[in-house]
Amino acid sequence: MGRDFTLDIYRKLCISLMKGGFQMSRVNDYLSSSIQEEGKKIIMRHDVDLRPERALAMAKLEKSLGFNSTYYFRYIDGVFNEEIIKEISSIGHEIGYHYEVLAKCNGKMPEAIDKFKFELSKFRQIVHIDTICMHGSPLSKWNDLDLWDNYNFEDYEIQGEAFLSINYDKVHYFTDTGRSWNGAAYNVRDKVQSKKSKILVKSTSELIYALNSINSDVSINTHPQRWHNGFFGWTFELLSQNIKNIGKRYLLRKHG
Ligand SMILES: [Zn+2]
Repeated sequence: MGRDFTLDIYRKLCISLMKGGFQMSRVNDYLSSSIQEEGKKIIMRHDVDLRPERALAMAKLEKSLGFNSTYYFRYIDGVFNEEIIKEISSIGHEIGYHYEVLAKCNGKMPEAIDKFKFELSKFRQIVHIDTICMHGSPLSKWNDLDLWDNYNFEDYEIQGEAFLSINYDKVHYFTDTGRSWNGAAYNVRDKVQSKKSKILVKSTSELIYALNSINSDVSINTHPQRWHNGFFGWTFELLSQNIKNIGKRYLLRKHG
């Protein structure tokens, strides 16, 4: 089996997208662009769940290729790294808040929205925040999007939520969740409802091939902790992901 999910392959993916005529876009820029704008876009969004140094490496790679994307950081020890967040922001990428407050507060709404305000303020002490994106922990029974049944993120000067503010009926969505681009199989929480027909790809090279024939906007979601060139780190990530997928398969069976 050849190694997938390396930074070298990520570079190939990005170069192929740009050559194919896609314009790379941050989430905030995509949301504020007008519908009439010409050309197809890639909304490039990264969830920094773990290992922020790998997000920094990816951010520098993107910068060297000449484009910017969006990095959603969790507010947890080891991920909320002020130096790394400021550095990624300083080279032109958007920093977003990857919230999980309902999960942290065991579903208690008033506590969760207070925590949301507090954590958001911590981000805003160091960088500008326009957009947010929920963190879908596969092992949590709470869905953080439920927060917005009771509250309105626009009240906190948030321009958009990556799952709620993009019209996925018009955008093809691909995510590396579960270390496969076939999100449907393992995607318990990161589910996106879309009328677009599902394009199934098994590897990044198949994704590159599939994207060549797409003429609409595309949203790509990665988890940078999975993308790196070091062999031992890669093997460890593969093994731990396989263990997690066994757990997720069980959850999917249980909850449909
Ligand atoms: Zn996440």
